[in-house]
Amino acid sequence: MENSKKYQVLLYYNYVHIEDPEAYAMEHLQFCKGLDLRGRILVAHEGINGTVSGTIEQTEKYMEAMHNDPRFRNMTFKIDPHSGHAFKRMHVRPRPELVTFRLEDDVNPKQTTGKYLAPNEFFEAMQDEDTVVLDARNDYEYDVGHFRGAIRPDIETFRDLPEWVRENKHLIEGKRILTYCTGGIRCEKFSGWLVKEGFEDVAQLHGGIVTYGKDPNVQGDLWDGQCYVFDERISVPINQKEHVVVGVDYFDGEPCERYVNCANPECNKQILCSVENEHKYIRGCTHECRVSPRNMYVKEHDLSEEEVQHRLELLEKENTKQEA
Ligand SMILES: [Zn+2]
Repeated sequence: MENSKKYQVLLYYNYVHIEDPEAYAMEHLQFCKGLDLRGRILVAHEGINGTVSGTIEQTEKYMEAMHNDPRFRNMTFKIDPHSGHAFKRMHVRPRPELVTFRLEDDVNPKQTTGKYLAPNEFFEAMQDEDTVVLDARNDYEYDVGHFRGAIRPDIETFRDLPEWVRENKHLIEGKRILTYCTGGIRCEKFSGWLVKEGFEDVAQLHGGIVTYGKDPNVQGDLWDGQCYVFDERISVPINQKEHVVVGVDYFDGEPCERYVNCANPECNKQILCSVENEHKYIRGCTHECRVSPRNMYVKEHDLSEEEVQHRLELLEKENTKQEA
């Protein structure tokens, strides 16, 4: 009884050929629903990538069933204890690719990929002066936490990464390149792409940041901030030795690790913002988003038109004071 109240979040992927992703996705959705799991799973010809939450019992059953399928026999599950579900619904979706790279010439990580480094090897390699550490994630992921000294690609989506590298070659040329991402799936392709692109010494963090944080030896050392995750938890701790906050509040630049979405649903931009500033700025990233007729903050808090006007006037006053 006790166990059934405790939850786990599973993060996993496997690059393996799936004959009919559409049919598999339909069948797998029924299977997951039958187990009462919630989460998001992508299925493609090149494999599977998922995050699901459920009770310990449900998730154990899921892992066992997956390991009984020869295609997923050796699949690694990263397991995080949690207080409840990390998703509202269960989705399994067929996709042309597991990670959206949309390259003219796709990378098969089973054929071409960077050298795998275990957490302790990555930890050592990072501190070598001929090494550059290149984050393979998006800017909003980097901003709430990253390896100390890592390069931040200025991208909002993974498919922009190749172009960014071509434009910023000088930052990594002639060096040993270490790449990392949340669970490792993006780096399998990205490091392979770097190799194809002609970079000679390319390595990737095996198992990603999540594995690095759980490693009993490195214990997340040299990781600053939190690790962004794509579920309701938003971010999780990694460094067990020290906690250095690197996120800064979108409005006042103060240390902050709290992500919210802009209250204008047409914008929906993720911003780091304190509770105080959320109220002050009506959770809008710009004036336009604050005054949007669809502003969700206004609806959630049932703000009167007068109250909205009052807050906008206070902001206006503060602005003119700063400009004066
Ligand atoms: Zn906005």
